[in-house]
Amino acid sequence: MAPRLTDQRDIEFVLYEQFKVDAFLQSDKYKAFNKKMFDMVVKEAKNLAVKEIFPTYAECDREGVKFENGAVRVPECLRKPHQLLAEGEWGALTESQEYGGQGLPFTIAQAALEYLIGANYIMMTYPILGHGAGKMIDLFGTEKQKELFLKKLYTGIWGGTMLLTEPGAGSDVGALTTSAKKRDDGLYDITGSKIFITNGEQNLTENIIHPVLARIEGAPAGPRGFPCSLSPRSGSMKTAPWARPMT
Ligand SMILES: Cc1cc2nc3c(=O)[nH]c(=O)nc-3n(C[C@H](O)[C@H](O)[C@H](O)COP(=O)(O)OP(=O)(O)OC[C@H]3O[C@@H](n4cnc5c(N)ncnc54)[C@H](O)[C@@H]3O)c2cc1C
Repeated sequence: MAPRLTDQRDIEFVLYEQFKVDAFLQSDKYKAFNKKMFDMVVKEAKNLAVKEIFPTYAECDREGVKFENGAVRVPECLRKPHQLLAEGEWGALTESQEYGGQGLPFTIAQAALEYLIGANYIMMTYPILGHGAGKMIDLFGTEKQKELFLKKLYTGIWGGTMLLTEPGAGSDVGALTTSAKKRDDGLYDITGSKIFITNGEQNLTENIIHPVLARIEGAPAGPRGFPCSLSPRSGSMKTAPWARPMT
């Protein structure tokens, strides 16, 4: 029997009776869509969730994430659904087409995510974290950074994280000591230790973009004056070749 990941009637009620999502179709932003398309997205998410993602849920727990010979290996069963999510650009449902997205309303994307996350939350943390890192670049990054990172982060081809916590800086993130030192070429060398980083290493994506909270040399103490640098997976944090501060 197919798993009942969420209540379809409940989703339809929230979308069309409570939020009256079909009224969005009158707006310029969503006039290229119709209700049938909204329904199709949710239905396809359900299919993907039931057929491809849910079967990995128990398997994922059984196999677990392994750390061997200095490398992290995620359960092999996650590879196919991850690829299907990236190919279908499911991570970018609400984003602009320029960056691999479909420009759908947030409410429709949430309905789709209800199924996908319900099928295996662990699996979905990979595209969701990549999307989060992308969103930060979208909102605060330069045009060049958007061009470099957005499409791959939004569609899940690259993974993303958020490096804030340190052994001596949790809730009090302003106590962090990771530092960023400007080099002659305008990039930054980052030095420090981060802990508890969700998906900080994995072998699902060809790259992982780490937004790193670090104090620029000479910045005042406390939570002010932290730029967020972008660092790729390869190489040590010390000499991240793409490290650049964001405003
Ligand atoms: C599942 C998981 C995933 C995580 N993923 C990430 C990640 O991706 N990136 C990242 O940077 N970090 C991540 N973290 C770390 C998370 O952000 C920290 O755990 C969090 O900031 C708390 O810090 P801490 O664990 O050092 O606890 P502390 O800050 O040491 O807190 C310990 C206890 O003291 C309490 N406390 C703290 N300060 C005060 C205060 N001023 N007054 C009263 N009580 C206080 C807290 O409520 C808590 O009960 C993750 C943590 C978890 C559990």
